[in-house]
Parts: sequence; structure tokens; C-alpha cells
Amino acid sequence: MLNIVLFGAPGSGKGTQSAKIIDRFGLHHISTGEVLRDHIRRGTELGKTADEYISKGQLIPDELMIEILDDVLDKEEAAKNGVVFDGFPRTIPQAEALKKLLAKRGTELHAVVGLEVPEDELVERMIARGKETGRADDNIDTIKKRLDVYHNQTLPLRDFYINEDKYLGIEGAGKVDDIFNDIVDQLLRKTGGDK
Ligand code: ADP
Repeated sequence: MLNIVLFGAPGSGKGTQSAKIIDRFGLHHISTGEVLRDHIRRGTELGKTADEYISKGQLIPDELMIEILDDVLDKEEAAKNGVVFDGFPRTIPQAEALKKLLAKRGTELHAVVGLEVPEDELVERMIARGKETGRADDNIDTIKKRLDVYHNQTLPLRDFYINEDKYLGIEGAGKVDDIFNDIVDQLLRKTGGDK
């Protein structure tokens, strides 16, 4: 049983690699961005609040985001068998909260997979994704704001997890399958071939 955080800038390939990791290790996928977009699609109160932040490229406030995640962990039974967290945590308070949320459920975080991709490639990927999928926050103005937010609020988590000896740095530019093989190798090495 593994709990893994997939960490990286917007556009770094977290969604793509999450899908492959959950397949390979039989884990449950929780993407906070997907959870929020689902609320927006369904027009819930939470969705309306989330949309105001997401459309500006800002983060949803920590307290609200942590409450949402706590709720998802309760509702999604499969989370008991191990989770790939995609897009959470994005701030230090969220990382502290994740530790508590997992401890409360008698488990812990085993590794943080950090996808490291040069900034110009991130921008290119998100522009392409915006054209292909129509995703509203993949436009150049919002992309720039999201990258600023990433540098200021999320990147400090890299050192946080290096200090906890959980961070696995992955070269995230290149072929999807090569990146995935690197992730699997490093995860198996880190978790002692568990699973
Ligand atoms: P990306 O990694 O490409 O930005 P996501 O789907 O992970 O895509 O997130 C989209 C948006 O959802 C973020 O820009 C942010 O506004 C919001 N969001 C997602 N996860 C979190 C989180 N853990 N904390 C705060 N806001 C979040």
C-alpha cells in the first residue's frame, strides 16, 4: 500500500503520469483540480467559489481545500488502498494537513514524485492543451499567473519534502514512457520494492 504525491508545475504532466502510476501500482487517483472542475460543471456552491479563484489563476484557500480533501478521503472507499495525490498539496499548510489527514487514518505519505520541466516547455504544453480541450484556465494570462503562484507558494514544498527524505526528482521533459519508467524505478527503490 502506497500513498504518493505527484508534484510539479502546472503543465508538468501530473495527470498523464498519475494515470500510469495508478495502473501500475493499483492505487486510487485524487486530482484536486478534477474535483474542483467537477463541482464547477455541476454548478454547486463550492463550484461557484472555486471558479472565482481558478479563473484568476489563484489557489483555493487552504482551509477550504483541506476540508474538501478530508471529505474526498472519507467518501472514496478505494482511497484506503493507497492514493496518488495529484495537485495536492500546493502549499506548506496543505502539506502539514496531509500528514495529519493520513495519520488520522492510520497511514502516511511514502514518496513525492517531482516532475521537473523547463518553464518554456510548460507554457507550450498548456497552450496546446487549452486548444485541444478548451480548458478555461489554459490561456496565456492565466498560465502566467499560475506559474507565479507555483513559484511563490508551491515550489517551497520541494525543500520541505527533501528535508523529509521523501522527494524523488524526475526529469519531466522527454517521452511519456521514459519518464514513467524513471518514476517506477525510483519509486521501487524508495519503497523497497513494496508492491
Ligand atoms: P494544473 O496543475 O495544470 O494547474 P490542476 O487541475 O491541478 O491543474 O489545478 C487547476 C486549478 O485548481 C489550480 O490553478 C487552482 O486554482 C485549483 N487547485 C487545484 N488543486 C489545488 C490545491 N491543492 N490548492 C488550491 N487550489 C487548487
